[in-house]
Amino acid sequence: MITIRTIESIIPPPPPHFVGDGFRVHNFFPGQIAGGMKRTDPFLLLDYGSPHVFTPTTHRRGVDVHPHRGFETVTFAFKGSVAHRDNSGGGGIIGEGDIQWMTAGSGILHEEYHSDEFAETGGLFHMAQLWVNLPAKHKMTTPSYQAIENTSIPVYEGQKIAVSVIAGEYQGIKGVASTFTDIRMLLVQFEEGGEFDYEFPSSYTAIALNIEGEIGIQDHNFPTHHCALFANDGEKLSMKGMTSAKALILIGKPIREEIVAYGPFVMNTREEIAKAYEDYSTGLFGAL
Ligand code: MN
Repeated sequence: MITIRTIESIIPPPPPHFVGDGFRVHNFFPGQIAGGMKRTDPFLLLDYGSPHVFTPTTHRRGVDVHPHRGFETVTFAFKGSVAHRDNSGGGGIIGEGDIQWMTAGSGILHEEYHSDEFAETGGLFHMAQLWVNLPAKHKMTTPSYQAIENTSIPVYEGQKIAVSVIAGEYQGIKGVASTFTDIRMLLVQFEEGGEFDYEFPSSYTAIALNIEGEIGIQDHNFPTHHCALFANDGEKLSMKGMTSAKALILIGKPIREEIVAYGPFVMNTREEIAKAYEDYSTGLFGAL
């Protein structure tokens, strides 16, 4: 018998902080979820930039050159646009609805800024950045970059719902992103009354981020700009649009390896973290 997953917690956005001077984010995890990164495995971190108005400027707002090793960063631009550049040759503008999936692997240097075009006009900025862990055998993979344009994401059109399949598969539609482990990432657009159901193993981590509108999960209210963590007690995720609404659904098979996260590096042991700092300080990450 298929059972419905219950809610473990619905997390309101904690007070925001700035990453660099451009990204005003609420850290949903690991900060707000008990059990830390092990509980959200294979996801490590979710920074959510709820809608915020920036004034026009000629100054570059963002985060200057910094390294990463051992995981992937996935950046979503819902409103406004981000300019990115890394030393593996990746770069470009992440515009509205676009996603940038960067595999830091063995080591990357990158910078993240508001795009010049956005900075010039200012306006509403709405984004998120997710960190996805890599299993030990892929932590030192060659750095790479997937620029996922809004128009390249396949969409399933259902009854009062539209599901953009970013990764994994939904209703026979394959996602556009390539992943190292079993990750399903969906953006669900609800019309009022639209129902979304999705079956996958109960051992998988399941998280939803409400980016617009009001959503119902069983008899719970899942309000806008909140994050929901599902319990591992069923095979079916079920949600309903109480208004027109939009949710980002993150599902992943846990990697179940040791996680040692320090600053911009996420490895399996303390020795590997020390090695990452050594390699970075001796210039092995190269230059940007
Ligand atoms: Mn970064």
